[in-house]
Amino acid sequence: TPVFDVTAIRRDFPILAQQVNGKPLVYLDNGASAQKPQAVMDAMDRYYREMHSNVHRGAHTLGDRATAAFEGARETVRQFVNAASTREVIWTRGTTEAINLVANGLAPRLKAGDEILVSHMEHHANIVPWQMVAERTGAKVVPIQVTPEGELDLESFDQLLGERTRVLALTHVSNVLGTVNPIASLIQKAKAQSVVTLIDGAQAVPHFQPDVQALDCDFYVFSSHKLFGPTGIGVLYGRAELLEEIPPYQGGGEMIERVSFERTTWNVLPYKFEAGTPAIAEAVGLGAAIEYLNRLDRNAMEAAENALLQRANALIETVPGMEIIGTARNKVPVMSFKIAGLHPSDIGTLLDQQGVAIRTGHHCAMPLMDFYGVPGTARASFAFYNTLEEVETLFTGLQKIQRLFA
Ligand code: PMP
Repeated sequence: TPVFDVTAIRRDFPILAQQVNGKPLVYLDNGASAQKPQAVMDAMDRYYREMHSNVHRGAHTLGDRATAAFEGARETVRQFVNAASTREVIWTRGTTEAINLVANGLAPRLKAGDEILVSHMEHHANIVPWQMVAERTGAKVVPIQVTPEGELDLESFDQLLGERTRVLALTHVSNVLGTVNPIASLIQKAKAQSVVTLIDGAQAVPHFQPDVQALDCDFYVFSSHKLFGPTGIGVLYGRAELLEEIPPYQGGGEMIERVSFERTTWNVLPYKFEAGTPAIAEAVGLGAAIEYLNRLDRNAMEAAENALLQRANALIETVPGMEIIGTARNKVPVMSFKIAGLHPSDIGTLLDQQGVAIRTGHHCAMPLMDFYGVPGTARASFAFYNTLEEVETLFTGLQKIQRLFA
């Protein structure tokens, strides 16, 4: 079995080696945003020290260096998701902007009575942009039901996918439940009905690598900051034919071929969707994050993450009144929970006093909170740099909180 040297890995993440509230930091809020390895900071620092200039403007050496670094990062992302071409890799500000771009781009295809299929476990980022475009076009946003265990109800999917369905917009992994959805088969069924498919990969990519060609989805989106890269940048993978068809999202410099007051024409892909000066250093940082991940043993990493989840699962019964929300068979190491007699936000505050960072609240998934009849949950979300000892610290903290306050 592959070994995963978590002690060595933690040295790559300087932020982890600190005390918070007099206790060693235990960072279990990776689902909200992950920490960055030194390699990412070094790459961005070197970019600013040695190569910063605007990109794609030619004319001088720094411009060429910046462009090479920026486009090199795009190629790194292309390989990461296995896109056929860098023409299909669009930089965005993140998952949210990528979904807004696609929802707006598909608006001309939508008319009254059309349906946009999402699920009851979506993040607001994969609900609200569709509601906004539905409002404009008369289309309807329809949610696929979720089972009490937190899996997609496949019967509900089969019932809802129909004549009127134009778009399937589905999360790969739930940010609340950790559920890994069986998207490949759902994409296949959708495609058989000529439905456009978008996969929200925000919570998937920190745990495993997607293959957009094998999945055969039309769009796949994610954020850099959850993938151990910088904030302010994300990725829209799109099938070239569809990206050619849909109109630009924003107008400005870079996205045009020729501008005149009579007629303006669009630049080629991917630049058609990249108006204005992009987040160059951030693209370089994301590229460095992926290269860092590429140096790790993927199988060992997944095994280590699974071991964290198994340890957490084994400790649930040590906290009286603790209940897990999301018990799917196939899940990433994310644990949403409640404890009888305690408000989730109090759990968060009391854990923080012990150096343990988790997230509490509705997790931008209010429809899912309504489904479970809770105002919010406490959520511990693990990354490959977390340790079994940290899982134990979390549970020691929970036991104490339960004893004293529940
Ligand atoms: N989708 C999912 C599943 C998420 O977890 C998140 C972030 N919590 C988003 C979308 C939105 O990502 P961002 O805020 O980086 O655009």
